[in-house]
Amino acid sequence: MRDVIVIGGGLAGCSMAVQLARRGHGVLLLESEVYPVHKLCGEFLSPEVRGLFRELGVEDEIDGAKPASIRRVAITTRDGREWRANLPGEAIGLSRWSLDPLLFGAATRAGAEGRQGTVVRDVSGTAFDGFTVRFQVDGQIVEERARTVIGAFGKRSRLDRSLGRQAGSGGSEFVAFKMHYRGADLNDWVELHAFDGGYCGMSHVENGLVNVCLIARVSALRDAGRSYDALRDGLMRTNAALARRFDVLEPAMDRPVSVSQVSFRTRSTFEGDVVMVGDTAAMIAPLCGDGMAMALRSAAMAGPLVAGFLEGKIAFDELKREYDRSWRAGFRRQLGIGRVLQAGLFRPAVARAGVRLLNAFPQLGDYFVRATRDADSRQDPV
Ligand SMILES: Cc1cc2nc3c(=O)[nH]c(=O)nc-3n(C[C@H](O)[C@H](O)[C@H](O)COP(=O)(O)OP(=O)(O)OC[C@H]3O[C@@H](n4cnc5c(N)ncnc54)[C@H](O)[C@@H]3O)c2cc1C
Repeated sequence: MRDVIVIGGGLAGCSMAVQLARRGHGVLLLESEVYPVHKLCGEFLSPEVRGLFRELGVEDEIDGAKPASIRRVAITTRDGREWRANLPGEAIGLSRWSLDPLLFGAATRAGAEGRQGTVVRDVSGTAFDGFTVRFQVDGQIVEERARTVIGAFGKRSRLDRSLGRQAGSGGSEFVAFKMHYRGADLNDWVELHAFDGGYCGMSHVENGLVNVCLIARVSALRDAGRSYDALRDGLMRTNAALARRFDVLEPAMDRPVSVSQVSFRTRSTFEGDVVMVGDTAAMIAPLCGDGMAMALRSAAMAGPLVAGFLEGKIAFDELKREYDRSWRAGFRRQLGIGRVLQAGLFRPAVARAGVRLLNAFPQLGDYFVRATRDADSRQDPV
């Protein structure tokens, strides 16, 4: 019987694995992809991640990957309005191609056994009796037992269904694309360009590349012609600032990464006795650029509690109560504000009025930038 099985080797899963392995617990970290891989993400890491990376002992490695420095944010609307502001600290742009293997490596160096290309199919059991995790590797189904299981498998996985979690219906009407380009100098700006039925974010990552990531209503994609190219050459060109960017951008990837049925509903911090961290518990609206920080932060909340349970210091019920309480206190408000802002950006008239308001009341912009970050960093931005 292992101490912990972590399902998913993204930010939340790797953070859990580092924390628990460092304390001497036997950790098996299972990841379905084989790294490096392009993942769908805006790849904008908000200022507060620096402190979280430092805690995980990966700050120097992150700097060694030469991330882009991002200090300013701009929002543009279809009718040519724009709002510009400074970020509360230095954010960084680093591709998931570089970031995820770096974190996975940190987990194995801390002592976790990491397996890639391993798809978890099913989890059964309780914290009282222990868990059985079934996963597929090289076409074979393998079983492992563990005292605790961490669900860090992201925003959407087939595992949700086998765990009896609600499917993504009602709130999963979004589709998202991400693609790397060359050819434009965005300097230290992260840009958010609103268009009818969606918005497109872009900022630099390492090596001068520009990451373009957009999210749109499924209906907008359908109306545009059902493909990324049709969306890019049609609806997205209705925002002149965005069209000007695409005039000079040259693809640096063969094709975009895409994800459908994206949902922003808060799900749950536990499914039975499986502890959920990162997007598996809830995903913040991408325009906040704080999903990766939230994933690390939720793992930083859960890690010491899971360790406390494994070390016999707290009962599992207490772990559940305390993680759920701190998760709600830390994220509920931030998630709610993010959803409201995103809904506004999807509607041209609201986006227009919003940008006018932000320009008239600059403190309002500062408030939103801070209110969509986690509570600790709001008080003490890195
Ligand atoms: C359009 C869009 C843009 C975004 N832009 C940004 C941004 O700019 N900045 C930001 O901070 N956040 C952004 N986010 C959010 C951010 O990507 C997530 O919040 C973050 O990746 C969450 O980390 P995680 O570890 O919870 O999940 P993930 O990073 O998704 O990791 C989950 C891992 O689990 C693995 N997995 C899934 N199922 C299984 C299984 N059955 N068995 C084994 N492994 C499995 C997956 O392969 C994956 O590696 C964006 C999201 C979207 C949709």
